[in-house]
Amino acid sequence: MIDHAEYLKDESRLSGAAEAVLFPQSAEELAALLKEGRPVTFQGARTGIMGAAVPTAGRAVNLTALSGATALGQDEKGFWIDVLPGTLLCDLRAALRRREFDTARWSDASKAALKSLPAGLDFLPDPTEETASLGGMFMTNAGGPSSLSCGRTAEHVLAVGGLFASGESFALARGQCQIDGAGRCALPGGQTLQLPACPGLLLPLCPAPGQDLVDLLSGSEGMLAAVTSLRLRLSARPKVRWSVVFFFDGPQGAAAFADGALAMRPAWEGCDLLSLEYLDERSLGLFCSLRRTQSRLQVLPDLPEGARAAVMAGLGGAEESSVEEALGALLECFVEAGGQEEDTWAADTPDEIEKFQLLRHAVPEGANAVVDQNRQKEPALHKLTADVSFPNAPLCGLLPELLGLVEESGLDGALFGHLGGRHFHLNLLPRDRAGLERAEALCEEVCRRSLARGGSPAAENGVGKTKRALLARLLPADVLAAMRAVKQAFDPQGVLNPGNFF
Ligand SMILES: Cc1cc2nc3c(=O)[nH]c(=O)nc-3n(C[C@H](O)[C@H](O)[C@H](O)COP(=O)(O)OP(=O)(O)OC[C@H]3O[C@@H](n4cnc5c(N)ncnc54)[C@H](O)[C@@H]3O)c2cc1C
Repeated sequence: MIDHAEYLKDESRLSGAAEAVLFPQSAEELAALLKEGRPVTFQGARTGIMGAAVPTAGRAVNLTALSGATALGQDEKGFWIDVLPGTLLCDLRAALRRREFDTARWSDASKAALKSLPAGLDFLPDPTEETASLGGMFMTNAGGPSSLSCGRTAEHVLAVGGLFASGESFALARGQCQIDGAGRCALPGGQTLQLPACPGLLLPLCPAPGQDLVDLLSGSEGMLAAVTSLRLRLSARPKVRWSVVFFFDGPQGAAAFADGALAMRPAWEGCDLLSLEYLDERSLGLFCSLRRTQSRLQVLPDLPEGARAAVMAGLGGAEESSVEEALGALLECFVEAGGQEEDTWAADTPDEIEKFQLLRHAVPEGANAVVDQNRQKEPALHKLTADVSFPNAPLCGLLPELLGLVEESGLDGALFGHLGGRHFHLNLLPRDRAGLERAEALCEEVCRRSLARGGSPAAENGVGKTKRALLARLLPADVLAAMRAVKQAFDPQGVLNPGNFF
């Protein structure tokens, strides 16, 4: 029996309303639904944290029944796989690891490709939440720690199959449709859309000359079309990998270390910094609290005494010697930044590396657990996430600035994120209504600072419903008008995902 109330929520903890929750079993069924012309909110696995999959009107259309791989093949750049949008990242990864798929409906060519599929190929983008669906990952252009080395989801998408708001289907290969200098974009069906000029902001729904239509659709949070299939590039992970967690007695050391690591990265030969993640003191505290109640987290050691900040570094390369050389350089940098060698965790096997990811993943999970607890006293409370980037800002200045803002506010807040892109998820966890107001003000201030420095106030998790009022206040009127015009061009009746963005 399906608990429909569950489908009115996502990981933002917002709760919406819908006339019905529907689970189409095929793209044709979905097309028939769209042809009725009534408002719909698409859902993947509902792990999004901005409320983008939370319905506010019309019907919730959950696409997780459209799941599985449908074809496999190879081109001059390597292997690709076709998946339905509701396929979960964890399921795709498990099938690739085992090289076992349900091939009953595969063509002979796909079956033959499976026989020659090398071990170790994977879909690399990783929002840390492996239960996300591939359709949701595309529609949020999910990033995550690995984005430092492999970019975000859209960069690994070769083609998209989907449905426009009218229910008409399309098949779109990367490189097939691009926006020209005058803002024109020819759609796969032959129709040409006139899109507005959009000042180059790092935000979804902002078209730019030369932009591929695949990239305009990615990150659009289901506002422009439905995705019914994706062709994904499969890639190999580096042969030699290390994951090291460096613990510090405060943020200054962590910032000096991270600035040093990023500065030395370009000089490394045969080794790359795959990820560089920051966890502040409150983030470590959230991990410790969750670890007390969740046995799966007890596979990780106790944190070193006095640990008040951590930087998790992933390193990879083809040869052990080059990776170990880079590791040595990182250790020197750690000691120069005031760290002690014994205050590190290090792993070089896939299982151990995966274990370390539990630390990073436990932080947003722990934040959500606190929100749930606070909501028992005050149901109106929710988490506020300033998901912001500050391109190229030195971390020695940026980290103390952001942490100082949280401290001044007196709010419960955890700062963590991807140091390579200077991209932070500041999670604010208000305890009462007054705190909620202060959290909203702080979130706005941090987003304002990010925009003023050429960054993005919706850098990775999207806009959804939780950030729409804030963006309406922060963005210049011409940018908002341009975004609306993009929406209008694709969805003139405004039936797709009403309430997201606008
Ligand atoms: C603990 C935790 C950690 C996280 N860490 C990260 C992180 O580091 N980086 C990151 O980027 N994200 C992160 N996320 C957010 C989340 O996992 C991603 O946004 C993910 O891509 C959402 O996928 P989903 O299947 O859950 O999509 P949903 O939440 O169901 O939907 C997201 C959006 O996509 C639309 N959509 C979904 N499927 C379709 C479709 N087939 N057609 C059209 N529109 C569709 C929905 O309408 C909605 O607008 C985290 C989440 C959690 C809970």
